[in-house]
Amino acid sequence: MADAPRHPMLVRVMAELGAARFTEEWIEDKHIFVNGYTEGKHIWINPAPAVVHTVIHEILHKLKPAWPEAYVEGMATRLLRQLTDREVWAMYLEYHRRVRRPKRRRRHDDDDD
Ligand SMILES: [Zn+2]
Repeated sequence: MADAPRHPMLVRVMAELGAARFTEEWIEDKHIFVNGYTEGKHIWINPAPAVVHTVIHEILHKLKPAWPEAYVEGMATRLLRQLTDREVWAMYLEYHRRVRRPKRRRRHDDDDD
């Protein structure tokens, strides 16, 4: 991946990461999970839906090791969509309550993600 030619927009995205003002908060919407939005120069990020999607995805791998990656990904999306905003938030808080944060970064070289 790193050897492929990089899109020039990547440099601009990196520059904006250092320049933008971010606020992280829970964003509620009646119809869809909102991962974030931009208002003027300010960017709001709601990490809960993406994190909970990943949590569900990895739990499915644990429960069903034989399921192919694409099937797990589709099922994770399907299950996330069946949750209410409050349930997504509750799962996000439970994950945060239970997660460990090791000091050293762990290498992950196999393809099972
Ligand atoms: Zn996976």
